Amino acid sequence: MKSNKFKDIRARLNKTQKELAQLLGVSIKAIHSYEQEWRKIPHHVERQLLFLLSRVIQDDSTPSEYCWDIRKCPDKKLKTCPAWEFKSGDLCWFINGTKCSGKAHNSWEDKMKECKNCEVFNRFFEKDSNGNG
Ligand code: SF4
Repeated sequence: MKSNKFKDIRARLNKTQKELAQLLGVSIKAIHSYEQEWRKIPHHVERQLLFLLSRVIQDDSTPSEYCWDIRKCPDKKLKTCPAWEFKSGDLCWFINGTKCSGKAHNSWEDKMKECKNCEVFNRFFEKDSNGNG
């Protein structure tokens, strides 16, 4: 995630640097460093930030959109996927080890490369242009 995206999401969450630091469990100095591009934004921070944004975007009018329905996963594949196992059809992008392309990714970075080109991820985050990318 790029620093401008990080700043966009912080604004969308309506949090000060201090408030976001508390939410992410990092120092204010770290938030400042991410936003100034002095430090690379760690994957666990990106992951948590997207999670927080997803909860803000989520509202009662959001229809249930499970990834296995959208991507029409066959039963055999479905039963081995952690998104199914942990009942996370609308949070599949958050769960490591999903089998979207047949096998689990080796890292969050690899997983995000696929998710950011996936209709499930984009369908959800397109509700907020700041959340995608
Ligand atoms: S590629 Fe990512 S967003 Fe798409 S179904 Fe798999 S985990 Fe979900």
